[in-house]
Amino acid sequence: MTRINSHYQKLQAGYLFPEIGRRVREFSAQNPDAKIIRLGIGDVVLPLPESIRSAIKKAVDEMADPKTFRGYGPEQGYEFLRQAIADNDYGTRKVSVSADEIFVSDGSKCDCGNIQEIFSLDSKIAVVDPVYPVYVDTNVMAGRSGHIAPSGHYEGIIYMPSTAENQFKPDFPKEHADLIYLCSPNNPTGTVLTHEDLKGWVEYARKSGSIILFDAAYHDFITDSSLPHSIFEIDGAREVAIEFRSFSKNAGFTGTRCAFTVVPKELKALNDKGEKVSVHALWNRRQSTKFNGVSYPVQRGAEAAYSPQGKKETQEMIRYYLNNAQIIREGLASIGLEVYGGVDAPYVWLKTPGDLGSWDFFDLLLKEANIVGTPGAGFGPGGEGYFRLSSFAFKENVEEAITRIKQQLKVKN
Ligand SMILES: *Cc1c(COP(=O)(O)O)cnc(C)c1O
Repeated sequence: MTRINSHYQKLQAGYLFPEIGRRVREFSAQNPDAKIIRLGIGDVVLPLPESIRSAIKKAVDEMADPKTFRGYGPEQGYEFLRQAIADNDYGTRKVSVSADEIFVSDGSKCDCGNIQEIFSLDSKIAVVDPVYPVYVDTNVMAGRSGHIAPSGHYEGIIYMPSTAENQFKPDFPKEHADLIYLCSPNNPTGTVLTHEDLKGWVEYARKSGSIILFDAAYHDFITDSSLPHSIFEIDGAREVAIEFRSFSKNAGFTGTRCAFTVVPKELKALNDKGEKVSVHALWNRRQSTKFNGVSYPVQRGAEAAYSPQGKKETQEMIRYYLNNAQIIREGLASIGLEVYGGVDAPYVWLKTPGDLGSWDFFDLLLKEANIVGTPGAGFGPGGEGYFRLSSFAFKENVEEAITRIKQQLKVKN
C-alpha cells in the first residue's frame, strides 16, 4: 500500500480551534438558550469597504469584455498592485522595497507555511512560545522536528519562552537557529517590538548567520508612531529578513484572500557547495512552479485599499477594532485582571485569575458568562495560564461580554 508522509502523524491531535468548537457545541446542546458571544477565532466581522467592493466589481466587468478580459496573470502579482504596495506600505515610511521584491499571494498563512520548503531540511528553526501554530506545524510536516515531548514542545525545535516576566519579548536563542520566526504586533500576545528590539534581532541574525521570518500581518494596528511597521526599517535587515503581510486583518480580506511576501534581493543562503544563493530567486522559482497568482478582481480590490477612500475606510475599521480592544482591556483591568496587548494590536492577552489553567478558564468563561475565548495553551506550552480575547467582534457584543465577565468574575474573585 501507498505510504503517507509520517511526519503528519507527529502533529498534535485536536488542533486548537476544532477543540474549541467541540466544547462550544457540547455546551450549546446542553444550554440551548445561552446567548454565546465569540471573542475567540481571529476572523474579522466588518464587511468589505465600499472602495474595495467597487474596484472588485469593476474588475469583474472587465472580465466580461474580450478586450479587457484577463487570463493567467503574473505568478508574482500584477505590477499595479506590487507598485501600490511598494509606494504606500514602504515608500511612505522611507523603507526601500522595490515592486519586484514583492510576491503577491492568496494569504500569509500559505506564505508563512510554504517559505520553509526553500530551506534545507536540516535547518534549525526557532519560534516564540506561545506562537501562531502555522510556523511550527508546517516545519513538523516537513520533517524538521522530532516527536512532541510531554512538555508539549517538539523535539528539535528551539522555543523562546515569551511570558509576562520578559514582557513577552524573548531572549535570543541559546543555540544556533537558521530560521527565526517573529510576529509583531504579536498574535497571540499583542506585544509589539520596538526599533531597539528589532535592531537587536537584526544584529543577532547578521552575527549568527540566521534568517528572520517576520510576520507583520497586524502592522496596521500600530497607533504609536514610534513603533516600526516593517523589519526593513532597521538598517541591515535586507540581508537577513523576509517579511509577510496580509490584507486579511486590516482590509477585511479574510474571505477575499490577498497577501504578500517581501524577499529582498540582498538576502542570501548557502547551497550544498557552500556558495551563496539568492533567496529571492528561489522563492520566485517556487511560486512560479506551484502558484498561479491571485485573481485579477481581488488584486484590483487590494489595490483599492491604497486609494484615498480605501485608506480612510480601512483606517476606520482598524479604529473600530482597536476601540473594542480598549473596552476589553480596560474592563478586565478594572476587575483586577492582568492584561497585556490590545493597544497596538487587536488581541488582548490576559493572565488567568487564581492561576487557573488556560482550558479551565475557557470552560469557566463559557459556563458562567457564555463567552468563547482562546486558551493560551493552544498556542504552545508557554501560553499555559494565559488567555486570548479578540477584538474582532461587533462593539455591542464586546460591551455585553465585558459586562458579563465583570459580573461573573467579580463574584468569583
Ligand atoms: C491572520 C494572520 C495571518 C494572515 O493570514 P491570511 O492567510 O493572510 O488570512 C498571518 N499571520 C498571523 C499571525 C495571523 O494571525
